[in-house]
Amino acid sequence: MPTVREIEAALFELAPREGAMDWDNVGHLLGDPGQEAIRCMVALDITHAVAEEAIAAGCQLIVSHHPIMNCKWSQVQTVRDDTFQGSLLTRLLRANVSAICMHTNLDVAEGGVNDILARTLGIRNPERFTGEGVGRCGWLAEPMDLPEFVRLVSRSLGCRGVRYAGAGKPVHRVAVGGGACGEFEDSAVRAGCDTFVTSDLSYHQFVDAKAKGINLIDAGHFPTEDPVCERVIAFLAERFPALQVQKSASHKEAIQYYMEDMEGE
Ligand SMILES: [Zn+2]
Repeated sequence: MPTVREIEAALFELAPREGAMDWDNVGHLLGDPGQEAIRCMVALDITHAVAEEAIAAGCQLIVSHHPIMNCKWSQVQTVRDDTFQGSLLTRLLRANVSAICMHTNLDVAEGGVNDILARTLGIRNPERFTGEGVGRCGWLAEPMDLPEFVRLVSRSLGCRGVRYAGAGKPVHRVAVGGGACGEFEDSAVRAGCDTFVTSDLSYHQFVDAKAKGINLIDAGHFPTEDPVCERVIAFLAERFPALQVQKSASHKEAIQYYMEDMEGE
C-alpha cells in the first residue's frame, strides 16, 4: 500500500507545490508520513463531520482542498482538546488519520479547480487571465442571454441559488474563478470578459457591476470548487489502484437560501 508520503508526492505532480500562494499552507499537514494508507476520503473541507465520517469508514488519510490549519481563515497557535479547531486536530491525530491539503496549487494547476469550472460551464480553450494564474477565461460557443446563462451555471454546478447582477449585455466571453476570486474582477474586465463567475462577491461589487460593464455571477464557494474532488479521486484511483478512495458523503453546501415570492415586482 502507498504511504502518505508517496500519496503527497503524487498529488504534487497533479498540482505542483510551487503554484501555491505565499500565504497558503499545502501538502501533508497532519499525521505520520510513513503510514500506509488503505482507505482515503476526499472532501472540499475537513470539518468535524468529515473527520468523524473518515474515522468511521476506517480511513488513514483525508485529502482536502482547503487547508486544515494555518491559512488565512484558521491560524493555529495551540492544539488543545478544548478549542474548536484543536479538538479536530487531536481527534484525527489520535485516530492516526493524516491530512493532505491541495489548495491554491490546485486552483492554478492544469486540469485543476478553474479548468474544471471553465469546462463545466462550456468555456472553450480556457486560458489564464490573472498574474497569479488562478482563474480562467474564454468564449462560449454562442452568446447567451444572462438569465439563460445563470440557469446553466446553477444547474451545471448544482447550486441552490445564485446571486447575480447584469451589465445589460449578453454572455459570450466569460471569466471564472472558483472560490473567493472577487479581487480579480478588474482583471476579468481588462481581459475583455463580459461576464465573471466566482463566489463570495461583495455588495459593492454588485452595485458597480453595470458601470464597470461586466455581468457578475456569484455561484457560491462550495459549488464552484467541489467539482475538483472528482478529479482528485480519479487521479488517486488511477495512480494507486489498491487504494480505496471515496468522496465524503456528509460534506455538502453549508449555505441555505430563502427566497421571497416577489411576484409583480
Ligand atoms: Zn476555496
